[in-house]
Amino acid sequence: MDGFVRVPVREQDAKERAKNFKEVCLGYNKEEAENEATRCLNCPNPKCVAGCPVSIDIPGFIQKVKEGNVEEAYQVISKSSALPAVCGRVCPQESQCEGKCVRGIKGDPVSIGKLERYVADTAREMGIKPEGAKEKKGKKVAVIGSGPSGLTCAGDLAKMGYDVTIFEALHEAGGVLVYGIPEFRLPKDAVVKKEIENVKSLGVKLETDVVIGKSVTIDELMEKEGFEAVFIGSGAGLPRFMNIPGEQAMGVFSANEYLTRSNLMKAFDENSTTPIMRAKKCVVVGGGNVAMDAARTALRLGAEVHVVYRRGEEELPARKEEVHHAKEEGIIFDLLTNPVEIHADENGWVKSITCIRMELGEPDESGRRSPVEIPGSEFEIECDAVIMSLGTSPNPLISSTTEGLEVNRRKCIVAEEANGQTSKKGVFAGGDAVTGAATVILAMGAGKAAAKGIDEYLSK
Ligand SMILES: Cc1cc2nc3c(=O)[nH]c(=O)nc-3n(C[C@H](O)[C@H](O)[C@H](O)COP(=O)(O)OP(=O)(O)OC[C@H]3O[C@@H](n4cnc5c(N)ncnc54)[C@H](O)[C@@H]3O)c2cc1C
Ligand code: SF4
Repeated sequence: MDGFVRVPVREQDAKERAKNFKEVCLGYNKEEAENEATRCLNCPNPKCVAGCPVSIDIPGFIQKVKEGNVEEAYQVISKSSALPAVCGRVCPQESQCEGKCVRGIKGDPVSIGKLERYVADTAREMGIKPEGAKEKKGKKVAVIGSGPSGLTCAGDLAKMGYDVTIFEALHEAGGVLVYGIPEFRLPKDAVVKKEIENVKSLGVKLETDVVIGKSVTIDELMEKEGFEAVFIGSGAGLPRFMNIPGEQAMGVFSANEYLTRSNLMKAFDENSTTPIMRAKKCVVVGGGNVAMDAARTALRLGAEVHVVYRRGEEELPARKEEVHHAKEEGIIFDLLTNPVEIHADENGWVKSITCIRMELGEPDESGRRSPVEIPGSEFEIECDAVIMSLGTSPNPLISSTTEGLEVNRRKCIVAEEANGQTSKKGVFAGGDAVTGAATVILAMGAGKAAAKGIDEYLSK
């Protein structure tokens, strides 16, 4: 190894994995991880740390991997991250820590994500747990939602000695990690559940099947149940549609519904009783991570899959690794293409979708070149299912039942970036509920900032 090239990671063969839901990436073993760790230059001013939204001491933990000391490597990471096995798998490292790594100037950046995953997986196999609080503060904090923002906020507060209860609307904890991201990218029992158990091992209580705003309100939690502060990490689970003719046809799904059936309700498992459409030919509309997950799930359930996206390859918002994996597995990309109408058969089931070709015009406010229709370029794709993956927004239930909680025009809760403080005293918020759909690590960063904000508020 010349130091410029990263140690390759083993993966399931593309043809084989396209037919199963087992994890695609197999991760590093000890020898591979220790070899990759030797590529880290232990920079005095590590740029990688500046690129990490939760500021993990990256050279610190990599040094411990080099020394073969996984336990200490894990403790270094868990000072900053409650979900290292999750982040090692799904974080967009290429645009964060690895995007800043100096090794990347003349070769491959250090595989920070794969090393993080190795440490977290090995620590789990060894039964190593994060260190909890030495002293209790005797103050109760409620956390709404058990996604990455809620779990991080709860874990950090518990480490500071607070008495934390997470209230989760679904029957299982984890947010998008359990209902959105598929098993083949993020195993639920082996990885997600174990990291949630680690958060619970810090003393965090979890109450599932509690819908805040319906079962109980935030004001009731604070006035009647003795919670002195509340963190809202309720995510952005409300799907958007295109509002094109025919969108009401049977066989049109939101990616959220389709993925929830498959992941949370285990429809991918042939022994499950949850119904799911096993399409012959499926069109997935959108180009983000959610679209890739829906497409790759439909493929594994037996469909020929077309991803229809209105911009070009360069603009695809999904992680490069996910696009690469999707292509390897046989997903067909119809780029610079936009749906205009869905057609149903005489029984109301989808039979085809009309699309129009696009070209890229001037950059819009996001800096990306906006797609413009090419007149007269309509064409039809025959299909029996359409999955809309066009983004999501926060559910208004909490904001509409909490007096004094300000939201912006996109229905996102208004909160200060530095400490999560909302317009309501004692109420903090972070993650997708504040930013709109974003990433796991940004949600975790917001949960961390809010834990600090809540500690400062309750210490006054
Ligand atoms: C399919 C899919 C794939 C993705 N892939 C990636 C990826 O590869 N990498 C990446 O970084 N990001 C990815 N993301 C985005 C990422 O998962 C989210 O940004 C992140 O999960 C947001 O965390 P959160 O804690 O804010 O909210 P969520 O994870 O959405 O969790 C919110 C939780 O709050 C609960 N809740 C909502 N309302 C209430 C209520 N009223 N009372 C009680 N509980 C409530 C919900 O049930 C949920 O469990 C993906 C998202 C999806 C949907
Ligand atoms: S920037 Fe790269 S080489 Fe430098 S400390 Fe971070 S991971 Fe190591």
